[in-house]
Amino acid sequence: MKPITRLEAVTQPRTIERIVTGVATSDGAGVKLTRVLTQNLQQRLDPFLMLDNFRSNDPDEYIAGFPDHPHRGFETVTYLIAGRMRHRDSAGHEGLLQNGGVQWMTAGRGIIHSEMPEQENGVMEGFQLWLNLPARRKMIPAWYRDIPKTEIPEYTTDEGVTVRVIAGTSNGVSGAMTREDTEPLYLDIDMPADSLFSTTLPANHNAFIYVYRGELTVGGTLLGESRMGILANTPQACPEPGRRADGVVLIASGPTRAILVSGKPLGEPIVQHGPFVMNTKEEIYQAVKDFNEGHLADAG
Ligand code: FE
Repeated sequence: MKPITRLEAVTQPRTIERIVTGVATSDGAGVKLTRVLTQNLQQRLDPFLMLDNFRSNDPDEYIAGFPDHPHRGFETVTYLIAGRMRHRDSAGHEGLLQNGGVQWMTAGRGIIHSEMPEQENGVMEGFQLWLNLPARRKMIPAWYRDIPKTEIPEYTTDEGVTVRVIAGTSNGVSGAMTREDTEPLYLDIDMPADSLFSTTLPANHNAFIYVYRGELTVGGTLLGESRMGILANTPQACPEPGRRADGVVLIASGPTRAILVSGKPLGEPIVQHGPFVMNTKEEIYQAVKDFNEGHLADAG
């Protein structure tokens, strides 16, 4: 762990533009989850397509898992805070995701995989985030990386805030993953009572915070547990027109945990049909056809 005593200056912090309450749903073979980033927010939060949060200590709510299903055209980032999940895919890869680990999967042209709990009791908690690929890279070969907890860089501030840097760079600490096209930042932030944390964010990047324990004050707005705050791209105090926001400041009155996610928008058309996310309807028809004919994941 790398101690940090100084945070980079944030003088034009973002405010919360909108508070979003997730929608309770189930997916896979009946896993109960909360869909926080839904399809109607895909343009606003470009390049992010979906965020699911799951947390349960009732095996009936997760044991059925996610049997074989396809994906094409984007990346999935699964962050398992607690639990054990086995994944297998059509390329013959297999891995175990557990306790603080991340699986970063590029579906690209196509993959068929399963994500199944490997526990019969206890807590299963985590997130799945979908990150879009630019049009010119949607059909690249599938790829994935399992990132165990020990390989995720972490830092602690002088106020005792612990930050795990899954992707991107925060306060000079580079995370486990980088992506050139979308420059994602993905932080898991653990704040003690009465602490403040800040990190810089490029003004043009879309960003949100999701509080999964406790509550935060962001730009004067209170963001409660299980709420997503979409961060405005313009700063709080804006004395000069055109002044750009340079980051975000979080204040926790009690112990709080949240994820902060930002990325560079692609600005391309988004057409989703279930597990396929492409740029045109024709490409979606092709994905469905390829899947039905059993060659979704074939080499292009
Ligand atoms: Fe999947």
